[in-house]
Amino acid sequence: MKIAIVGTGYVGLVSGACLADLGHDVVCIDRDLGKIEGLQNGVMPIYEPGLEALVARNVAASRLTFSHDLAAGVKSRDAVLIAVGTPSEAGSGRADLSYVFAAALEIAANLDGFTIVATKSTVPVGTNRKIAEITADVIPAGASMAVASNPEFLREGAAIADFMQPDRIVVGAEDPRAVAVMRQIYWPLVAQGFPLIGCGLETAEVVKYAANAFLAVKITFMNEVADLCERVDADVETVAAGVGADHRIGRAFLRVGPGWGGSCFPKDTRALATTARDNDVRLKVLEACIEANGDRKAAMAARVETACGGDLRGKRVAVLGLTFKGQTDDMRESPSLDLVSALCARGASVHAYDPSQPREARRLLPAVHLATSPQSAVEGADAVVLATDWDEFASYDLGALADRMADPVLVDLRNMFEAKTAIACGFRRYVGLGRGAQREDAVQGPMAPGMPDEAAVFRSVAAE
Ligand code: NAD
Repeated sequence: MKIAIVGTGYVGLVSGACLADLGHDVVCIDRDLGKIEGLQNGVMPIYEPGLEALVARNVAASRLTFSHDLAAGVKSRDAVLIAVGTPSEAGSGRADLSYVFAAALEIAANLDGFTIVATKSTVPVGTNRKIAEITADVIPAGASMAVASNPEFLREGAAIADFMQPDRIVVGAEDPRAVAVMRQIYWPLVAQGFPLIGCGLETAEVVKYAANAFLAVKITFMNEVADLCERVDADVETVAAGVGADHRIGRAFLRVGPGWGGSCFPKDTRALATTARDNDVRLKVLEACIEANGDRKAAMAARVETACGGDLRGKRVAVLGLTFKGQTDDMRESPSLDLVSALCARGASVHAYDPSQPREARRLLPAVHLATSPQSAVEGADAVVLATDWDEFASYDLGALADRMADPVLVDLRNMFEAKTAIACGFRRYVGLGRGAQREDAVQGPMAPGMPDEAAVFRSVAAE
C-alpha cells in the first residue's frame, strides 16, 4: 500500500518506520523542516530504542521517505494517517484539535483520487465524523475520501515492539472501502494472529481513551495502597505481587511511583473526563484518579525533605531521571518536573542527571544544574532521589555513588532497590514507597529463607 503519515513525532515516525518494515511504501510528512531535514540525513528527532536502525533499513530499501511538502506527499496514496499532537486546551482540559483539523483540511484540499484518511492521533468521540464534515467542501473535484479511526496504543520506550506485536489493532470505519484498505495495511500483522477489532468511529475513539484511563486508575490505586502500606508496616511490592497474581487483575501497571505523567495519560484522562461531562455523564472514578495523581506528584518533595531532616534550605539534592519514564527522552508532564520545582522552592540546589540528556530539560528546568553523569550529579549531595525507572539505574554501583555524597541518603521513588542493599552499600538512609515492612529500623527479608522472592519477580513483570 502507498501510505502518507502527517505528523512525524513519536507516533508518526514509529508507525511510518514499522509500516515500511511491513512492506508498505511510506512517506512521513512534517511541517517542521528541521526535523525532516534531520531525518533525511539519518538524524533521529527522538530517542526510541531500535528506531534509528529500523529507519535506516527502510530508507535504504526505498520504502521510507521524509517530506516537508504535504500537498505533494498525500497525492496518489491509498491512505493518509494523521499523527499530529492533540495537547490539552489551556484551562478547559479538552483536547486541542486545532492541529488535527488543520492537517485534515490540508490533506483533503490536496487529494487527487479516492483516499482513506485515518486518524492515529488520540481524538475525542465525534472527531472523525467532524473531519468528514469539515473536509467535504475543500476536496477537489474528482477526488474523494473516507475517514477511519485508527487509534495508536504504542508506549514510548517499547514503541517498535508494541507496533509490531500489538495487543490489538482498532479500526473504526463505516465505509466498506475504508475497512478494506485499513485491513490490507495491517494484514501482515493480522496474518500473524494479532487481533484487529473492527467497529464504528465512535467506539474506536472511546476504546483509546477508556484504555488509557483504566491504566491510569490502576496505577493510582496501587499508589494509594502504597501509602496505606507505609502506615501499617506492610510491603507494597509483595502486596502488588499478590494482587497481580490474580489473572482477572494482571501484574502490569501495579508498579508504585511518584505519580503518572507523560504525553498521554494526563491529557487523555482530562479529555475523557471533560467529554463525559459534556455529555452529562460523570466518570467519578476517573475524576478522583486525576485529583489523587496530582496530589501525589505534589507530595513527593516533602518525602525528600523529611529524609533530609526536615529542611532543604542550602541542601544539595541529586535527581536521577527527568523524563516521565525510563527509556524515553519525553519530559511532557513528567513527575520530575513537579518534584524538581518543589525541591527548588524549598531551598534545595538540584543537580539532575538523565541518561537521555533530554533537549527540553534546559527550557523546562532553568534553575537546575544538568549533570552529564550520575557521578557528577551526586557529588557532594545531601540526598539522591531516584525519580525515573531507567533500566540502567538498576546496574549502578550504589557504594560508589554513596562514597561521593556529603550525606548518603537515597530516596527511591521507583522502588528499584531494596533498603537492606542500599544500607549495605553505605547509604545512611533509604526511603522507598509503600515499604512499611522494610523501614530502616525494621530491615528484614520479607520471605522465609529458601522461599522465592515473588515481589522481585513481580517487579520485573509489572514494569511492562
Ligand atoms: P509529537 O508532538 O511527538 O508529534 C506531532 C508532530 O506533528 C510534530 O512533529 C508536529 O510538527 C507535527 N505536525 C503538527 N501539525 C502538523 C501539520 N499540520 N502538518 C504536518 N505536521 C504537523 O506527538 P506524538 O507524541 O507523536 O503524539 C501524536 C498523537 O498520538 C497524539 O494525539 C497522542 O495523544 C497520540 N499518541 C501518542 C503516543 C505516545 O506515546 N507519544 C501513544 C499513543 C498515541
